[in-house]
Amino acid sequence: MKLEIDSARLISEIEELALISEAGPPVVTRIVFTPADMRGRAWMIDRCKAAGLAVRHDAIGNTFARWPGSDAVAPVVGTGSHIDAIPNAGKFDGVVGVLGGLEAIRALGRSGFRPKNSIELLVFTSEEPTRFGVGCIGSRLLAGTLSAEAAAKLTDENGESLDDVRRKAGFNGRLEDVRLARGYYKAFVELHIEQGPILERERIPLGVVTKIAAPASARVAIEGAGGHAGGVLMLERHDALCAASELILAIENAARTSGSVNTVATVGMCDVFPGAINSVPSRVKISVDARDTDLARRDSVMRAMETASKEIAARRGVSVEIELLNADAPAECAPEVVEALSASCRKHGEKFLPMVSRAYHDSLFISRIAPTAMLFIPCRNGYSHRPDEFASIEDIARGTLVLAETLASLSA
Ligand SMILES: [Zn+2]
Repeated sequence: MKLEIDSARLISEIEELALISEAGPPVVTRIVFTPADMRGRAWMIDRCKAAGLAVRHDAIGNTFARWPGSDAVAPVVGTGSHIDAIPNAGKFDGVVGVLGGLEAIRALGRSGFRPKNSIELLVFTSEEPTRFGVGCIGSRLLAGTLSAEAAAKLTDENGESLDDVRRKAGFNGRLEDVRLARGYYKAFVELHIEQGPILERERIPLGVVTKIAAPASARVAIEGAGGHAGGVLMLERHDALCAASELILAIENAARTSGSVNTVATVGMCDVFPGAINSVPSRVKISVDARDTDLARRDSVMRAMETASKEIAARRGVSVEIELLNADAPAECAPEVVEALSASCRKHGEKFLPMVSRAYHDSLFISRIAPTAMLFIPCRNGYSHRPDEFASIEDIARGTLVLAETLASLSA
């Protein structure tokens, strides 16, 4: 088997897909079920069909492109990622795993390899939480960690339900049927940019992920009392933004003092009402995102936030309401898939680093129903979720080659 990656075609496809965006280049914005996302999906399906793959999708729009194996009943070897992108994003997050996965399959076909297990490329719906507040909707439904009922009720900022939106996008059928049976997959491998600086810093071209950190997120609403910025005396204030500020620092402190560098916590959104220069803030909404490779430590950050919110509320005479959006366990990657990836790296003489993924991915949820691991490639300065996100074609091609080798070894 002589595996060769067509890197010229791969990079031109990445560039072409990047142009399907709600914003002009270099910005990529492709929010789930918007016209840009729908055009991106159609473009992707054309590519899969041109490669001779059989394409189907489920009721949430997860798209499966299959290269049938010689054993039609054997469990599937899967790969894939997402093509939706947050506002003002770059062109590599998710896309490298989707187009790299497609090129890996094409390269295997060109090499003369014929799989025993079917190999499937999976394009997940809504990995990004932008529209419905919850990330990885497609993979959560596949794994059954999000119920069909709860999913149908998710709404976007215009109050449109996920159920209506996906039907309008042409995805009908019962959300209950999205769930995949345990045993559907023999293995699942996701290729992704690292979204962190470690590989670049260590000058190691590949990362084999052994563990995916546990994410939790929440919305916090703080209600105080407003009034005229000149009229309300300081000792009589119940300023919601001042209360929020204390809470934000308490969250930061809980993560900084956890005792591990693997604990991270972020408040990335802050809505202030009424938002006027001469008005005391009466209502503030913030978002909270906490992650750790260790579940107990992650939960202790969330508990510290609750404790601090009660203390701040009592002292400042405001109310604090916390709505937990998700709290997921971490994933240990499957040793046999980690080993298949490692062996493929060794076979091609590539150095690799066993590592933890602090960002979460669809693989976190697929790992609940399938032996799963991930392969990382470096990205410049660790930048991601911004227009200057960059991965070199050499690194993308190298990752795609190791992915192809791994798919071959898992499906032989
Ligand atoms: Zn991603």
